[in-house]
Amino acid sequence: MLQGKKAVITGSTSGIGLAIARALAGEGAHLMLNGFGEPDEIERNRAELAREHGVTVAYNGADLSKPAEIQGLIEAAVSALGGVDILINNAGIQHTASVEEFPPERWDAIIAVNLSSAFHTIHHALPHMRAAGWGRIINTASVHGLVASAQKSAYTAAKHGIVGLTKVVALETAGSGITCNAFCPGWVRTELIEPQIAARAEQLGMSMEEGGRNLVLEKQPSGQFISVEQLAALIVFLCSDAAAQITGTAIPIDGGWTAQ
Ligand code: NAD
Repeated sequence: MLQGKKAVITGSTSGIGLAIARALAGEGAHLMLNGFGEPDEIERNRAELAREHGVTVAYNGADLSKPAEIQGLIEAAVSALGGVDILINNAGIQHTASVEEFPPERWDAIIAVNLSSAFHTIHHALPHMRAAGWGRIINTASVHGLVASAQKSAYTAAKHGIVGLTKVVALETAGSGITCNAFCPGWVRTELIEPQIAARAEQLGMSMEEGGRNLVLEKQPSGQFISVEQLAALIVFLCSDAAAQITGTAIPIDGGWTAQ
């Protein structure tokens, strides 16, 4: 369905981003991967995606807290793949603490990686989409782009910001063949939330498994984690022609969290 499209996916060395990379490659898209991690593991994943799906898969290790490196990431994608048709702004970090105890440098880092990086990627990628007359920009927000939780000031501010940025880009690109949407997952079991599960397990004297379940049930009526494959399937749909009139939205995929 996405044969020959060129996709940049930030934060695609693990978790949700890696699953999106697998799903887009499965539809025939060429990929530019990005994110941190063990070089050997990154290269293994890159080579496996290319081999299994017969697509070009490149990797760029840009640190998304650095605007100059973000420009380099988009330039590297254009040179390796020949353009950018699909941009998935997915990289993200977390820190939990009350506002009084929140380290200012963690605030700055979360705003830079979870929010500002999406401005910079879009700023550099959009001209390529306009030239092609087609594009898909999909921003990984969170339920915290729609509602708040205590201890998550920077994360909630950044994710609300990304929902706002999504709407503006959608308005500026409306009718051009380009859409811009955000999706808003509830709890997904990835590296990002392991520290929160560990803290809950320790606090209640539970196993990691029980701690995870306790954490999910507190907010997510389904009582079940969302899988990375379920999220990736939504992204494939948003890239399809069937979704050409879906733009400027923030789509919850959250087991009922934000229905309450
Ligand atoms: P993850 O930790 O597995 O993935 C995060 C990715 O971002 C990794 O590839 C990491 O290397 C990359 N990254 C972090 N800092 C970076 C930087 N400075 N420069 C470049 N890459 C960087 O976690 P995940 O759960 O897959 O998170 C992906 C996205 O999903 C994030 O935006 C997160 O906020 C969002 N999200 C996660 C959940 C959840 O429950 N796991 C829920 C809602 C939203």
